[in-house]
Amino acid sequence: MDQDLINILNRMKQNCKVEDMHYDCPICEDKGYTFKTDKHGYEVAVPCKCLAKKQSIQKMNRSGLTEVFKQKTINSFKADKKWQIEAKFKVKQYIEDFLKKGSNAGLILSGQPGSGKTHLGIGTMLELINNNIGCVYKEYLSMLTNLKQTSMDETDYLRELEKYTNPTVLFLDDFLKGEPTVADRKYIYKVINTRYLKGMPIIISTEKSIKEILEFDEAVGSRIIEQAKGNIIEFPRDSSNNYRLRGIV
Ligand SMILES: [Zn+2]
Repeated sequence: MDQDLINILNRMKQNCKVEDMHYDCPICEDKGYTFKTDKHGYEVAVPCKCLAKKQSIQKMNRSGLTEVFKQKTINSFKADKKWQIEAKFKVKQYIEDFLKKGSNAGLILSGQPGSGKTHLGIGTMLELINNNIGCVYKEYLSMLTNLKQTSMDETDYLRELEKYTNPTVLFLDDFLKGEPTVADRKYIYKVINTRYLKGMPIIISTEKSIKEILEFDEAVGSRIIEQAKGNIIEFPRDSSNNYRLRGIV
């Protein structure tokens, strides 16, 4: 390259330099990658160490969790009673296994309303997201409403369905709440079976017992239970365990 051209390029670089530019990551200037020359003289992109964190923040933003939910960490789950201590321990075990083995196992949090099932499910999601695993939270009834509303248009319906079948982990909160219609059953089966066939785990919280889930629909229930691979936490049914009612009754 001749010297004139180099001088022009240098001047251009100088002019483009923005003073006092703030980067979250000064190493890669927020590009997520740095560039180095490999042994063959080619320039290659190397993921910066900030990339995983950046991706996990993106995953958090896509998770469907509200600000309130983001406080529901595993550590903030109060465990005084034996069943709470056990539930917390099992959930931690599930997370540890998941991270160690790249698990495709699901998790079932079943039983007593108001006992902290949602809290533990969210806490699990938060841990997985922090480890850069994409998780999506969805209330079961809202999923059914959304699927129903889009069912008249195939493109809309498929796009909606993908919101539940694509995430690495789906947390369906309050599974089987209310009386499912014939159409609802079709949607539920579609979501559960698609994830089952893809080997993609699902976390569910439900007031139903394992027996009741199977009674609802054996095809759906058996898939969820098989996928949970023993990660089933049943909360004891006793109104003193309903923390939402504390001080009211
Ligand atoms: Zn960086």
